[in-house]
Amino acid sequence: MTAPAGTALIRDDLLERDRSDPLAPFRDRFRLPEGVIYLDGNSLGPPSMNIGTRIGALLADEWGSDLVASWNRHGWFRLPERVGTRLAPLLGAGGDEVIATDSVSVNLFKLLAALLRRPGPGRVVLAEDTNFPTDLYMAEGLVSLLRESGARLRLVPPADFEGALGPDVSVATLTQVDFRTGRKHDLRRLTALAREAGIPIVWDLSHSAGAFPLRLNDDRVEFAVGCGYKYLNGGPGAPGFLYVAREFQQSLDTPLSGWMGHRAPFDFETRYRPAAGMRRFLTGTPGILSMVALEEGLRTFDGVDMEALRAKSEELGNVFLRLADERLTGFGVEAVSPRGARERGSQVSLRHPDAYPVMQALIARGVVGDFREPDLLRFGFAPLYVRYADVWDAVETLRDVLACEEHRAPRFQHRDAVT
Ligand SMILES: *Cc1c(COP(=O)(O)O)cnc(C)c1O
Repeated sequence: MTAPAGTALIRDDLLERDRSDPLAPFRDRFRLPEGVIYLDGNSLGPPSMNIGTRIGALLADEWGSDLVASWNRHGWFRLPERVGTRLAPLLGAGGDEVIATDSVSVNLFKLLAALLRRPGPGRVVLAEDTNFPTDLYMAEGLVSLLRESGARLRLVPPADFEGALGPDVSVATLTQVDFRTGRKHDLRRLTALAREAGIPIVWDLSHSAGAFPLRLNDDRVEFAVGCGYKYLNGGPGAPGFLYVAREFQQSLDTPLSGWMGHRAPFDFETRYRPAAGMRRFLTGTPGILSMVALEEGLRTFDGVDMEALRAKSEELGNVFLRLADERLTGFGVEAVSPRGARERGSQVSLRHPDAYPVMQALIARGVVGDFREPDLLRFGFAPLYVRYADVWDAVETLRDVLACEEHRAPRFQHRDAVT
């Protein structure tokens, strides 16, 4: 930091950081409302500046002029692979190892089922009990479907996960970055540990992809899924992605054997035959509007040095935690994210007993984070558009809300469906 250790930070230090930030120009790629500090890109990334033009062109020059011929003429049929190939460098994967399709929930189901169906002594699906609920719900649904074959779900606290990698486990699933605390797992170490035990891990990279560089090939990751609408800026409900290391692609059979994953969908055969490569993990017709929006979201990463992105992400989190220490003492706020930047994703969470109304009051002041049960204030730092000075302003606004007890106002108590 500009300020020496032991000296309190001031806003000017952070403005200086912004002036020398090599990623600062990328903020212009996003459409962000005036006066809003957006710290919720870990829940829904903002639209890129070009999204309107791109969707407009899709309507005018493709769908609106060539109609159904667009499937061939404009490459719609191959779009899930094309988007996957564009995403692959962010994952450290081969272009033929990634495909954009379906939601994270559905993709996780496909991979867990494909792995659980393989012959072997293990019948247990292993997961951390702190995992994102949809991952647990999908695993629960899967084992109930296969209960007669002895399939079971075992949920363990994170501290017990490694010890639970026993011979009765068929497949494990882990989310790399915990959605509550931001704690980041060591992908490489855990993948190696599980491989030694003969257990595949399906990684959920929803809070990883686009938040920091990934090296799935180098880290010998075998299977992964992830989200398109968070750090990848693909738009609400954007397709998720699925990664399968090349050596496993031909031996895995998805249980959701839809026609788009067929070897020759337009032969209209009676029996299913899986496509070669990643296409077999497609199910039904892809949503082309969302797929194009995701492709546009991925373009926000064009030319971005991912190491610089990670360095800034770590610093934004460090500054936030430091300011929380310096400026929020005595307000009942406690940091729950790891202090060490290496052990964190790109978010920081604070605990406060009135977290829900506090977040509503913050949002009303233009600082957008989110609330997670039971008492978490969550702040995401997407380095392509969050500025150092934003971190200062966010903490000062939070301090003001707490000091004035603004969150006690009745209008901040109402609970909406999405928090
Ligand atoms: C956001 C997120 C999801 C989202 O799942 P969808 O089915 O795409 O809605 C799943 N898992 C994790 C860990 C997430 O953070």
